[in-house]
Amino acid sequence: MLSEIKNFIEDIFLEFYNKLFSSKYVVKGKCKRCGRCCRNILFSTKDGYIKSEELFNKMKKKYRYYRNFRVSGVVKDKQDFQNGALTFECKFISKNNKCLIYPIRPIFCRDYPNINSDLIYNGVTMLDGCGFYFDVNKKFSKYLE
Ligand code: SF4
Ligand code: SF4
Repeated sequence: MLSEIKNFIEDIFLEFYNKLFSSKYVVKGKCKRCGRCCRNILFSTKDGYIKSEELFNKMKKKYRYYRNFRVSGVVKDKQDFQNGALTFECKFISKNNKCLIYPIRPIFCRDYPNINSDLIYNGVTMLDGCGFYFDVNKKFSKYLE
């Protein structure tokens, strides 16, 4: 019983310590205004990414928001859970990569690229050619110094 309490306290202490002092993912770089992120959007449902036009059409009927997008391609050569996912293009991206509704663009667009540690752990990276990249605020070598 005593050792269980000791382990419990140690777990809490370690979790707290890690939250305060461990490396954290950060976004570095800057936007090149290439528009790729508006043309390569993935949508997920509770069952995973949308992988068929049939499901996409159902989602469009259910939620008006999806009508702002059209299919732009399919994910290949990425992690298993992403392969086969449809990519979508926003209808508000102009030919010269300008957002036509920039002042009122959705929060997801304002927040991009945001940090989702779970996805990064699973090997998800920024789009090829994107000017942003994920890094850590403290390199492993710094802990060894
Ligand atoms: S893909 Fe990256 S560099 Fe290109 S517009 Fe989006 S955020 Fe900017
Ligand atoms: S609303 Fe604008 S920023 Fe958001 S995906 Fe569409 S074109 Fe891109």
